[in-house]
Amino acid sequence: MLFVVASPIGNLQDFSIRGKSILESVDIIIAEDTRSTKKLCTLLQIETRAIWKSFHAQSSEKDLQEILHILQSGKKAALLSDAGTPAISDPGTLLVNHARKLGIQVSPIPGACALVSAICASGFPSDHFEFLGFLPHKKGRQTLMKQIYSADHTIIFYESTHRILKCIDQMHEFFPEKQICVARELTKIYEEFIFGTPAQVKEIFMQFPEKTKGEFVVLVANQKHSQKNIESPVSLL
Ligand code: SAM
Repeated sequence: MLFVVASPIGNLQDFSIRGKSILESVDIIIAEDTRSTKKLCTLLQIETRAIWKSFHAQSSEKDLQEILHILQSGKKAALLSDAGTPAISDPGTLLVNHARKLGIQVSPIPGACALVSAICASGFPSDHFEFLGFLPHKKGRQTLMKQIYSADHTIIFYESTHRILKCIDQMHEFFPEKQICVARELTKIYEEFIFGTPAQVKEIFMQFPEKTKGEFVVLVANQKHSQKNIESPVSLL
């Protein structure tokens, strides 16, 4: 049995009661970074006697096979990433995929996920949305910008602090008239939702450079076929 356990994206209180009891009952905890998940367990007073294994983007085929071997022996395991839901722009998919192929039962322990937190509180149409993960840095980025421009549904993607300004500039270049929302530092002290056209959002970033720091989810509203009676939220400038 493999439990896919969501962990907080900022606020520790978002770790679920069920997640806690799963971590206290499993034989093995598979973490993207064992040090940060151990720290989380200490902070949340989770007492576990599980064996720790790491599984991350650079894990080898040998590491994968070793974990699958343990799972096949009938042990109960929990998979966690550093923050949020494993396998969502995080390692995990490969392990879950192989586990399923081997007939190992996989069960989600839901909780925090940055993209869901962002869209549910943005007010942007959510009946039809597309999540693009992290946009490619170079090759394919312009093509995606064109696709975002012509999409008829809400687009969501993750962006890093290093590229957020460049990203806003590119959105201004490809779709200056669209309403966007930059959701930053969700569930943390400086959580905020910044709305406007790319140029309006850029103006806010220029005025308050500290707002370009942190973690970001970017949403682009596209109105054509989305929920009736929902307008893009008016810029909060
Ligand atoms: N698995 C995670 C999830 O469930 O959302 C996502 C992991 S991905 C490696 C990390 C990215 O998610 C960050 O670069 C940022 O774009 C977004 N993110 C994570 N935590 C966030 C937060 N508290 N506020 C805004 N965005 C966040």
